[in-house]
Amino acid sequence: MQVKDLKRTYKISKTDELNALKGLTFDLPESGMVFILGKSGSGKSTLLNILGGLDKATSGEIIYKGKDINCYTQSQLNKYRNVECGFIFQEYNVIPELNVFENVAIAAQLQGEKEVTARVEEVLKKVDLEGYGNRKISQLSGGQKQRVAIARALIKQSGIILADEPTGALDSVTGESIFGLLKEISKEKLVIVVSHDRDFAERFADRIIELADGKIVSDSDSAKNEAEESGAMIARTARLPAKAVFKIGTADFRRTPVKLFFTVLICVIAFTLFIISLALSSSDKISITADTIKNGGVNEVKYFKCNESSEYVDFEGGDVEFLENYFGSETIKLFSQDISVKELGGGESEFLYYAGGLQAVAAIDEGALKDFGFSVEGSLPKSKNEIAITRYTAEVLQYVAGYSVVNGAKLTLNDEVYTVSGVIDTRFNNKRYQSLKTVPADDYLMLGQEFKYYLELSVHTAAYFYETFENGCECVLLPQSAVKTHDMRDIYSLRKGGGQFIFNCHLSWQISEVADMASGLRTPFIVLSAILGVLATGLLVYYIAQSVADKTRTIGILEALGCSGGEILKIFLIEGLLIGIAVFALSLAAGFAACGIINGVCASKLGLAITAVSLGALNSCILFCVTILLSMLSGALAILRIHRMNPIQRISSVN
Ligand code: ADP
Ligand code: MG
Repeated sequence: MQVKDLKRTYKISKTDELNALKGLTFDLPESGMVFILGKSGSGKSTLLNILGGLDKATSGEIIYKGKDINCYTQSQLNKYRNVECGFIFQEYNVIPELNVFENVAIAAQLQGEKEVTARVEEVLKKVDLEGYGNRKISQLSGGQKQRVAIARALIKQSGIILADEPTGALDSVTGESIFGLLKEISKEKLVIVVSHDRDFAERFADRIIELADGKIVSDSDSAKNEAEESGAMIARTARLPAKAVFKIGTADFRRTPVKLFFTVLICVIAFTLFIISLALSSSDKISITADTIKNGGVNEVKYFKCNESSEYVDFEGGDVEFLENYFGSETIKLFSQDISVKELGGGESEFLYYAGGLQAVAAIDEGALKDFGFSVEGSLPKSKNEIAITRYTAEVLQYVAGYSVVNGAKLTLNDEVYTVSGVIDTRFNNKRYQSLKTVPADDYLMLGQEFKYYLELSVHTAAYFYETFENGCECVLLPQSAVKTHDMRDIYSLRKGGGQFIFNCHLSWQISEVADMASGLRTPFIVLSAILGVLATGLLVYYIAQSVADKTRTIGILEALGCSGGEILKIFLIEGLLIGIAVFALSLAAGFAACGIINGVCASKLGLAITAVSLGALNSCILFCVTILLSMLSGALAILRIHRMNPIQRISSVN
């Protein structure tokens, strides 16, 4: 290695410059122990850092293997640090996040070696640290840490070992053993040691170059070294081993758990609000109806018919067939009708629950019975003067008039006498309305209103006749099973000819209420989640920036080992990614829980089983993308901090 007229100037202010090296020229041999001696501030470290490719000279040349180091590109410089040089610093540049074994192994792994165990053990033995592989760095003495650093420099099999005051922080006995070790190594390699200790220098050095005020004042061997290094640098890309990336990336999770907790907490709150806003935004009358039907809150749905001028009209020939074909199911046709029941004696029930009675007539056959999942006790009417009533109607007749359905029981409806052939179980889910059994019929109650609405034109309050009515029904019913497989947006208003079939179910009124509520909540949720989202992103960036700051020394060491910026970025991308995954999983869980609560409140306050908000796969995907992207971005922002310093500033910035 030849050094020619090397100069290094530091800008210390806009106008002032400091000449740390004022034109050094010397040659270095391929092996041996060279001491660079001088008082503090004489430029020793500056020289060593330039020789090791950690700093750039202002002018001059360093010819190594026929090329000037000063003209290297960044990636050539990385390779030079990685392959050719081993660094040892005063403050033992070991990576605190890794154990002894990993600290040594990483240097070999960065050179692309896969099987390193045997060689690590070999060099650990050489530096007298056999069996220390699993020790944490914090459990080592200063001398032991320095031996780890030497072992790491050794395993690289580089030609040059550079040591900046390697014993500066050690007692003299330990220092002596370190110098002994370096002397041993210098039989095969060039060892350049910076020191201000003349005593040690004179005992260990093969050659002493003395610096004062940036100039060489003496050189014990100024003879020109003719031996010229040969060969080109080996081209290898330094890759950080995945385990080291993970260990270093997660170090701050253990170091600052409270900070992590609050960062994640705020993020989770923000993203939970975010996904609820998404859910609210995608929930309207139609989607709520669809979810409610899918979740089994509605057993049968109704269709009404509108003409071109949006007036309700009766169904005509072909309409019912159209619906039956469309849904592949039988229907029940309902005709609303004032029915007076003689057996009730004209008396009205005193309680709300029994106010339903009979309100409509309907046609039903075995096929419809099966499609709706109804069952009959007795049989369906088989002749014109037979009817079937529902279990609810039977309950009303029993309570109000003491009428009980026995074999051959008669009912007089609108002055016509019918024989009751059977009682149909219409799967009436009346649990919610049991309390109305003691509520006076003329009381105005929300639940009572709902119940009245429920019974109007429903399967539960119809009388079923033998006759099949061809035309003129006002309402066609379809079972939930036939409807739920269709896209609600398609079937909400089906069109045929000039007419339109208007979808309805017994919860339509409550669903409208809930949809209004959801749209009212939408804006406040979006605003809140946006504000918190900005805050959370800020915290995330701050957390990772802090983690970069905490790892300043580690980054510097990795760079001194020849690790590229891209490899170092991986550490923070992993850190961001892990936080992102945690935030996503927790936000999704919290979102599900929140939707459950909202739906629960809606169900108990307004209706049977209304699904007011549901997260949905698309919203979950959006949440996943946003959280992962944002957290990885926070990790990537860290590189901005990384690029502002050079490795030597980083290593010395701590302490
Ligand atoms: P030594 O290692 O011999 O103690 P250094 O090489 O560290 O000396 O420093 C040589 C001179 O350069 C000193 O005067 C020091 O103050 C100055 N110096 C070193 N690094 C910087 C820097 N980054 N910016 C400005 N001046 C520096
Ligand atoms: Mg120094």
